[in-house]
Amino acid sequence: MARATPPSPRTKVRRRAGRGRYARSTINAILDEGLVGHAAFVADGQPYGIPTLYARDGDVLYLHGSPLSRLLSSLSEGIPMCFTVTLVDGLVLARSAFHHSVNYRSVVVLGRGRAISDARGPSDLELKVTEVVVLPLDEASAKVRTGPPIDAPEDYARPVWAGEVPLRVVAGEPLADERCSQPVPDYVTRYHRGHA
Ligand SMILES: Cc1cc2nc3c(=O)[nH]c(=O)nc-3n(C[C@H](O)[C@H](O)[C@H](O)COP(=O)(O)OP(=O)(O)OC[C@H]3O[C@@H](n4cnc5c(N)ncnc54)[C@H](O)[C@@H]3O)c2cc1C
Repeated sequence: MARATPPSPRTKVRRRAGRGRYARSTINAILDEGLVGHAAFVADGQPYGIPTLYARDGDVLYLHGSPLSRLLSSLSEGIPMCFTVTLVDGLVLARSAFHHSVNYRSVVVLGRGRAISDARGPSDLELKVTEVVVLPLDEASAKVRTGPPIDAPEDYARPVWAGEVPLRVVAGEPLADERCSQPVPDYVTRYHRGHA
């Protein structure tokens, strides 16, 4: 059973606080559905926000890449970092431009990464050119917006369409490598993102 994580003073959502979620199960579900996150950190006085793949295993996230990249070489030193993942679920079209919005599920993780050297890899060479950083999920929050637009009371009478345009990531037809003569395996044809 995934445990609940009470927000720290730093991870408490302040604006639209009712959209804040701190249950580990909610945070994990968003992280597991996401594919790409953004790691934010400061290097040489300059803030960077770098997109990257990640994977969750239990209570930690793993990031990997070239040890020569600014991303991995900085984070492996254990500097403060922030990792965010965002799923955009729909366009929310209101009766006024001011109230247009999006439905989303997002996660923010604060902490420090730690380089690990005992990750298993396909070969010694690949291990040598790969840095793996682990980030604990000890200080994390989620924020979730669902539902229709929230218009100003006087705007509900306006003759303007309002509602949501759902968005989702859909896996397309697999395209075999031209040098591959193998049949498409089940795990490829059945692959999907999000709620199937
Ligand atoms: C796709 C998307 C679009 C958005 N568009 C806008 C926009 O146009 N304008 C706008 O003002 N806001 C937008 N937001 C909301 C924005 O992410 C912040 O929640 C907002 O700026 C309010 O932050 P705050 O001042 O309450 O908290 P902050 O003081 O900025 O953050 C305090 C803590 O709250 C938590 N937190 C804050 N936001 C999030 C989040 N989104 N997900 C998870 N944890 C969070 C973090 O742990 C953070 O450390 C959007 C969010 C998403 C996911």
